[in-house]
Amino acid sequence: MKLAKRVSALTPSSTLAITAKAKELKAAGHDVIGLGAGEPDFNTPEHIIEAAEAAMKEGHTKYTPAGGLATLKEAIIKKFEQDQHIQYAANQVIVCSGAKHALYTLFQVLLDEGDEVIIPTPYWVSYPEQVKLAEGTPVYVEGKEQNHFKITPEQLESSITERTKAVIINSPSNPTGVIYSAGELKALGEVCLKHDVLIVSDEIYEKLVYDGATHTSIAELSPELKEQTIIINGVSKSHSMTGWRIGYAAGNVDIIKAMTNLASHSTSNPTSIAQYGTIAAYEGSQEPVEMMRTAFEERLTIIYKKLVQLPGFSCVKPQGAFYLFPNVSEAVKMTGFSTVDDWVEAILEEEKVALVPGSGFGAPDNVRLSYATSLDLVEKAIERIEQFMNRHM
Ligand code: PLP
Repeated sequence: MKLAKRVSALTPSSTLAITAKAKELKAAGHDVIGLGAGEPDFNTPEHIIEAAEAAMKEGHTKYTPAGGLATLKEAIIKKFEQDQHIQYAANQVIVCSGAKHALYTLFQVLLDEGDEVIIPTPYWVSYPEQVKLAEGTPVYVEGKEQNHFKITPEQLESSITERTKAVIINSPSNPTGVIYSAGELKALGEVCLKHDVLIVSDEIYEKLVYDGATHTSIAELSPELKEQTIIINGVSKSHSMTGWRIGYAAGNVDIIKAMTNLASHSTSNPTSIAQYGTIAAYEGSQEPVEMMRTAFEERLTIIYKKLVQLPGFSCVKPQGAFYLFPNVSEAVKMTGFSTVDDWVEAILEEEKVALVPGSGFGAPDNVRLSYATSLDLVEKAIERIEQFMNRHM
């Protein structure tokens, strides 16, 4: 069967692919350490699980409104008031089946063929694919390593054309863990306001910030920037709820309405039970969120020191999320490999450590390591990488 053009160049997500390969090797009896994970290694907090169980028993097992339960939207609106000090009405919020689905739906309603979306590199793997699936054109702007992988207002402005519809800002970032300051966001926001470019602000790692760093949403910086921004967020990373598939978008009424109409013909609604769990996630104790954040911070402090001591590794210190994104171009050369992809494959084969090559994130000199796995395992993985380096140098 000949498939549609729109999927002919579609590749599976590189992060999911490496995780699957590591799982396969593990199932075959190998002692694999997978550092590809994009999800917290903690179980969902108990009170959330209990709320979902209760919802099932109470019969909340039916369709919900396409854009999400009114009570969940209220909880999300309250969260925005508390955390960002911004107000949204219920018709400015849509609950989707994960933040990924919120982004997918957004690009579907936003883009016509050839409309451009500016994507700073390194980027989360799904942004370009989602833009292309909506017949849009990704326009890459290099977040230079020496500028801590952040783009500048000048770079942003010079990449804007007649066809520019939106720019994606992901802070804290996957894969770099870097955070834009309020001042940096304001400067980028001014360029977007000047050229009427929609800001898609992916804030899924909002709660995972370290060393006293703080998260600022570009939407909270002024009423104009709030109008210009669609915030994407969800509970996958903050509350360790990746499998529940609840994320949301907030912003312009017309965009949210179009997204809701599209959802009504695609998913009908996000899973009812998961929505009840999410209400508990936002209305219940936030202690588990802080407990997980503290655990990630401890790991980062220990692992970062060890990682930068590896020969040929250099790494911008992350301030958020749960990834390290070292530049390994020197390490690759020192061990006689010609590409990072080959080097990553050899490490998986010889040392049974799964890293994600940076090529999938638009940064071919880097690799991504997730520390959303126990400290023991990450430390062991670093020892194995060191062994690999020593053997090949
Ligand atoms: N945005 C970024 C930057 C991510 O890293 C992820 C998940 O890996 C998502 C969005 C999607 O999260 P969700 O599980 O809510 O779909």
